[in-house]
Amino acid sequence: MDKYIFLDRDGTIIEDAGHIYKVEDLKFLPGAIDGLRELFWHLRFKLIVVTNQAGIAKKKYDIDDFHKFDEEMRSQLQNAGVLIEKTYHCPHHPDITGECRCRKPGPGMVEQAVKDFGLNPARAIFIGDKDCDIELGQRFEARTILIDNGQYEIKSIPTARVKDLIQAAGIIKSWQNQ
Ligand SMILES: [Mg+2]
Ligand SMILES: [Zn+2]
Repeated sequence: MDKYIFLDRDGTIIEDAGHIYKVEDLKFLPGAIDGLRELFWHLRFKLIVVTNQAGIAKKKYDIDDFHKFDEEMRSQLQNAGVLIEKTYHCPHHPDITGECRCRKPGPGMVEQAVKDFGLNPARAIFIGDKDCDIELGQRFEARTILIDNGQYEIKSIPTARVKDLIQAAGIIKSWQNQ
């Protein structure tokens, strides 16, 4: 059976400068590409990105900007040997567009991935840098890894806490060997 990892984008894969959408501002975090390569290529996980993009609701950028940026990120990753299976995004913000089901930690994006891939979310691994990423995984009783880049106060208790995606890959490898 295929193994899946749900990855946050900003602050997990790429630098989180806040409402990032310009292709020229795309910067991978240290260890991100190598960590993803390990997860995809050696450990054979399928990688799914789930990202809150409230900047769309706030009209800081539009859906085309988002897609352009996503395509660029994925093509740079592909050139490095990493395939992102799919990117899901939530374009909403509760204050502007009202409550939605997809904004993390809401389950909507993962529910859609379950429909699209027939995956079991409880067996997936969730990686992110904020409480909402950890809470999302915990909602599905899955294992969670926090990328602790010191940018946010974290209240949730992830299964593991690491500095970057290389360390995350190391932890996941150790879980596989259990
Ligand atoms: Mg993030
Ligand atoms: Zn939403």
